[in-house]
Amino acid sequence: MMGSVTEVVAVDYSQVEKELRKTCPRGVRVDEPMSKHTTIGAGGTVRFLAVPQNVSELVAVVRTALKYDVDYLAIGRGSNLLVRDGGFNGLAIKVANNLANLRLYKRTAYAEAGASFTRLGRILTRHGRPHFEFAIGIPGSVGGAVRMNAGAYGSELSRVLKSTKIITTDGRITILKPEQLAFRYRGSSLPRRAIVISSIFWCPPGEVDQAVLKQALSRKDTQPIADRSFGSTFKNPPGSFAAQMIDRCGLKGMRRGGAMISKKHANFVINVGDNTKVSDIESLMEFVIARVKDRFGVTLEPEVIIIGNP
Ligand SMILES: Cc1cc2nc3c(=O)[nH]c(=O)nc-3n(C[C@H](O)[C@H](O)[C@H](O)COP(=O)(O)OP(=O)(O)OC[C@H]3O[C@@H](n4cnc5c(N)ncnc54)[C@H](O)[C@@H]3O)c2cc1C
Repeated sequence: MMGSVTEVVAVDYSQVEKELRKTCPRGVRVDEPMSKHTTIGAGGTVRFLAVPQNVSELVAVVRTALKYDVDYLAIGRGSNLLVRDGGFNGLAIKVANNLANLRLYKRTAYAEAGASFTRLGRILTRHGRPHFEFAIGIPGSVGGAVRMNAGAYGSELSRVLKSTKIITTDGRITILKPEQLAFRYRGSSLPRRAIVISSIFWCPPGEVDQAVLKQALSRKDTQPIADRSFGSTFKNPPGSFAAQMIDRCGLKGMRRGGAMISKKHANFVINVGDNTKVSDIESLMEFVIARVKDRFGVTLEPEVIIIGNP
């Protein structure tokens, strides 16, 4: 019997570029540095960046990637994302900024995936809709917040989500309920290539939690929010705080190239250089993991999403 032969078909990137420019006429860039699209301000390039102006362009861009078998993912405000120095040989679809409509109803709110999560929190809180105080100060998009199950001060997105509309990994549009998203601490079961288009949140009127609001509004007292970072570097292990462990290892202020453990908050890696390498950031993170493991026997798990080639 003849052995089977697998044919590897190379992606025709010039054809992909042509078609992307047709489907997304105002927003395709080639070899785009991700330092421009992430809050840490560092990172390699993506082969293509598409910035759809509306939902139909977004769907068309995804279908183009599927047609040519190009790897892709959505990006929001880049506030929890690291693209390694060797870059991502695929398509980043920037959903934030353009798909940013918000609408408030009697008991629910509609938000497009590109809307600011902080803005959603501020508007709902201002309108006397409780349980969104925690969102104020989380610098991501609604889409990023859904994928990450963003949370703070004991609250998280999964508790207020009614449904979310996504583009599936085979290019269909469907609506999912929270129980279909297997939310966990800073995560969900949403596959990497599934893209959030919009979400509906429960927000009946009620009493705003002033204590949570006060905490949300005073982040700058405890977090280095003026510095370039991706927020918490590591998830809190059950029953303890990553920041406390890192601090007790004496690592505040420790540097690798332009990457530094913030002196203000030990669970923040900040970018203090001009041309900081993601390899420096990752090497600092590995060092922290090893020191915390040595001292406390606990393996810290990164919260930040890391993609691309070293
Ligand atoms: C100063 C600072 C403070 C922070 N504080 C908090 C905090 O208190 N709590 C907290 O939970 N997080 C915090 N973060 C992290 C971050 O803001 C959140 O994780 C946020 O939800 C990420 O959203 P984003 O739009 O920036 O996503 P990105 O960083 O752009 O992407 C993160 C992940 O989400 C995916 N994604 C983005 N958009 C979509 C979409 N439309 N559809 C599907 N997937 C998508 C990406 O593919 C990627 O996997 C902080 C970050 C910073 C810089």
